[in-house]
Amino acid sequence: MDRKHRFNFETQVIHEGYDAERFKGSLAPPIFQTSTFTFETAQQGEKRFSGEEEGYIYSRLGNPTVKMLEERMAVLEKGEAALAFGSGMAAVSAVLFALTKTGDHILCSQGVYGCTFGLLEMMEEKFQISHDFSAMESKQQLLDEIKPETACIYVETPINPTMKLVDLSMVAEAAKEKGIPVVVDNTFCSPYLQNPIELGCDIVIHSATKYIGGHGDVVAGLVIGSKEFLDKVSMTTQKDIGGIISPFDAWLLLRGLKTLAVRLDKHCDNAERLASYLLAHPKVEKVYFPGDSNNADFEIGQKQMRRPGGMISFTLKGDKETAQEFMNRLNLIKIAVSLGDAETLIQHPATMTHAVVPKGSREKMGIEDTLLRLSVGLESVEDIRDDLSQALEGV
Ligand SMILES: *Cc1c(COP(=O)(O)O)cnc(C)c1O
Repeated sequence: MDRKHRFNFETQVIHEGYDAERFKGSLAPPIFQTSTFTFETAQQGEKRFSGEEEGYIYSRLGNPTVKMLEERMAVLEKGEAALAFGSGMAAVSAVLFALTKTGDHILCSQGVYGCTFGLLEMMEEKFQISHDFSAMESKQQLLDEIKPETACIYVETPINPTMKLVDLSMVAEAAKEKGIPVVVDNTFCSPYLQNPIELGCDIVIHSATKYIGGHGDVVAGLVIGSKEFLDKVSMTTQKDIGGIISPFDAWLLLRGLKTLAVRLDKHCDNAERLASYLLAHPKVEKVYFPGDSNNADFEIGQKQMRRPGGMISFTLKGDKETAQEFMNRLNLIKIAVSLGDAETLIQHPATMTHAVVPKGSREKMGIEDTLLRLSVGLESVEDIRDDLSQALEGV
């Protein structure tokens, strides 16, 4: 089926990877809730194991429902192939362990997800795989920072929680000159807003827990890249470490993906209006939103993101207690980490997602005690704004 060149994104999220005719006309994809697959003969089993015959063996090595999800995601991220995992961190660790060996080095963007930071520390301690953080502000800076033992570049953009952007085509150019791959954690954008492979990067990771699932009911991860690299991952760090996704969770993601484009447009519409509201509010000090034309990275966003996304961070005038008091006064908006759900969520990075980062480093990263991160949901924008407004009035 060569649909990829015929249909647009909004159609691909619904149809790619699934053909009802092959499954008795079932409109919804079946859930293959099985651990293993039977062989008709001993010889067939032998051929499946040797690779002479294609087909399923055991669900850690492949499952038809999971395969549907992987095929859909490969098309959406414009890669050759995809692999699904039981969490975003299972995906991150499978990729980083596949790309590195003892003595190697990883060059990372200035901020990475908290548990990715923990994983990098663990890799250093246990396997002497080192890492450095780079502002990634120019190609020359990157070329200077790439060491002979640098095995890959690892980037998040927007960087959580200050929403700073990294120019992905610039990073890809520098990496190409040095012959090393670029890995992008594209969780904050989803494939609807940014496609790193099209910008010259090599491997894309998603915590599918966020926008891809979209309903706050599944923890999962995805990796998209070349078939050669993903075959290697599937036969090594996925098969032997085993962080696979369950068929039911893969099914939930196939279902979540169908509405990705319409959900993201609404997340973005709401975020744009709320960012303007916050920018004009006298009790709000700073607003970090890639769609703000005064934002230092506005041009990078225009170049590489379809829209500025559904995440806004902002600081309040006051101190940590002001921020916490503000959160406690919210009614509709829920206090929770995670993002990309239908519900608007707010969290306090200094005491929650980034509490493990020492205060000094936190401040260098722009994570002040009054910084709040808002994952704008799908509710009526007036209702979200009214909730922000009454809570701001009270502090
Ligand atoms: C949540 C998140 C992860 C980790 O994903 P899990 O599904 O929670 O394991 C990785 N990267 C980013 C940017 C995230 O937001």
